[in-house]
Amino acid sequence: MIPQKQSTLVTEYHYEGKGLHTGKVSHMTLKPAPENTGILFHRTDLGENAFIKPLAEYITSTSRNTTITDGKVSVLTLEHLMSALTGMGVDNVLVELDNAEVPILDGSARFYVDALKRDGLRQQDAMREYITLDKEIMVTDEKSGSWVKITPSEEVSYDATIDFGSKVLGIQEAHWDPSLDYATEIGYCRTFVFLHEVAYLFQNNLIKGGDVDNAIVIVEHPLPQDQFEKLKTVFNHPNISVNENGYLNNLELHFPNECGRHKLLDLIGDVRLCGGFIKGKVSAFKPGHSINSMLTKAVREYVQNK
Ligand SMILES: [Zn+2]
Repeated sequence: MIPQKQSTLVTEYHYEGKGLHTGKVSHMTLKPAPENTGILFHRTDLGENAFIKPLAEYITSTSRNTTITDGKVSVLTLEHLMSALTGMGVDNVLVELDNAEVPILDGSARFYVDALKRDGLRQQDAMREYITLDKEIMVTDEKSGSWVKITPSEEVSYDATIDFGSKVLGIQEAHWDPSLDYATEIGYCRTFVFLHEVAYLFQNNLIKGGDVDNAIVIVEHPLPQDQFEKLKTVFNHPNISVNENGYLNNLELHFPNECGRHKLLDLIGDVRLCGGFIKGKVSAFKPGHSINSMLTKAVREYVQNK
């Protein structure tokens, strides 16, 4: 693998939107940062000194998102941003956020990768120092059968297999390595939900159409007709139906395995919480934020004791 110089942004980027979990609107600015800064979050609403680095030891919650906190400063749902910065090769960036949660935007990393692809990056003088391992690190969850591992290698690659026991999704595999265009192959892939998981929410009018407009909705168990009619109103989408593949037709899939690719997007973002770019092969079976964080915590411990 060719040694690589560090990169930062050429300009600032502003984002505004609701957080998926808090529902609160936040404003986020990505700013160029000096060499060897890494990724650094600044909660501007908490004062001048409210900084936190996205490192595995700060992870406190992995329930449908990755949350970091050091007791005073927290950031929720940072994984899509972290994935975009990693896939696009950004070493150094200051992330200013005026609320607790990174905006969910369209449920993918599209708005980040489009901007970075359009403008390119600014190369810096310092060389990138990869995190390297001299043994394989693997974590497993006996209950779910999930595992994630990093195998030492001169090449970088990420592989994920998902299996939700779903007849709609089936078993999906996804792969990324730096020879592939992260932006279109992975960055555009959106988050997904099972309709039966959100059904009770919409039955109680707890979700608004906008919240699922950009999520892939999987219809594993078809709803009774009266509930489906209600769904059309809630989604504000009179023509909504279930397509022949078992997905709600609120959007077109970018890839048949878009859901698998999204889990890979999450994995790439979560692995960045090792504290930098990994040099090695990352592979996962049924990955999720919880098992991903077990891996990154193990890597951090290993690296700190090396
Ligand atoms: Zn995600």
